[in-house]
Amino acid sequence: FSEITEYKKQQNNLRQHTDELVKLLQQEKQLTEMQREFVSMASHEFRTPLAIIDSNAQRILRGRDTMAPEKLYGRLGKIRESVSRMQYLINRFLDFSLAQTKGLELNRRRQPFRDTVQRICANFTEACSTHAIEIDVSALPDSYDFDEKLVELCIENLLSNAVKYSPNAARVSITGAVTGGVIEIAVSDQGVGIPEPEIGKVFDKYFRASTSSGIPGTGIGLNMAARAIELHNGEIHIDSKVGEGSRIVIRLPERSDFPDEQVRSVA
Ligand code: ADP
Repeated sequence: FSEITEYKKQQNNLRQHTDELVKLLQQEKQLTEMQREFVSMASHEFRTPLAIIDSNAQRILRGRDTMAPEKLYGRLGKIRESVSRMQYLINRFLDFSLAQTKGLELNRRRQPFRDTVQRICANFTEACSTHAIEIDVSALPDSYDFDEKLVELCIENLLSNAVKYSPNAARVSITGAVTGGVIEIAVSDQGVGIPEPEIGKVFDKYFRASTSSGIPGTGIGLNMAARAIELHNGEIHIDSKVGEGSRIVIRLPERSDFPDEQVRSVA
């Protein structure tokens, strides 16, 4: 009788291990699919700005003796826009590989905050041809103790999502405020929105809301953005309604009372 009990126990153990293995293999498969999708999406997205650079450069070369200055500047402007777009895509690519390999690291120092946020938004706007983004970050503090790369990663992700998940020319805005000791940077859009039960999940790595089907993405950006803000002892909050739009708010403590350590990291 005890042999049967022992046999059943072992059988149960084996079943449990098999289930775990199957789960791990499924996760591995999902990751490989995500990576494949990301690479194909990135190479596809690189083609457009490269083609724009190429055709404008060719036209400038062909008309170098006769081209009117304003035409020349127009074409150089287009080249500049495409270069910004490619820089942005390369940053996303780096974020992705960083997320796959090591965690994020916080290297903070006190430095100009409002001007930095303004510059990040202006650079993004310059590279965005589909939406005119309204920027009003004048109420942000002059200076703050922060990691520029992480804040840039975060704001770029929020703006890029606002643009990506809303129709062309729809209103997208970014505002800054300080209320009750909390710095708030809010990105609002009039896009597809996120269904209520899925809002809590969009910070999970690789999670994509049902409203994003047909729109390319990897489900990594918000997860990284949230971790970047957590490293600053802040949080990201989302308000969203399907078919109406989303408002995503970064909240940071105005007084960044970190202990003495300068470098912190999360996996
Ligand atoms: P993705 O690369 O898929 O855009 P993110 O991690 O940036 O990944 O976002 C996770 C998911 O959250 C998205 O797939 C999308 O479903 C949803 N999401 C994020 N921002 C918005 C937004 N502004 N409007 C609608 N849905 C959004």
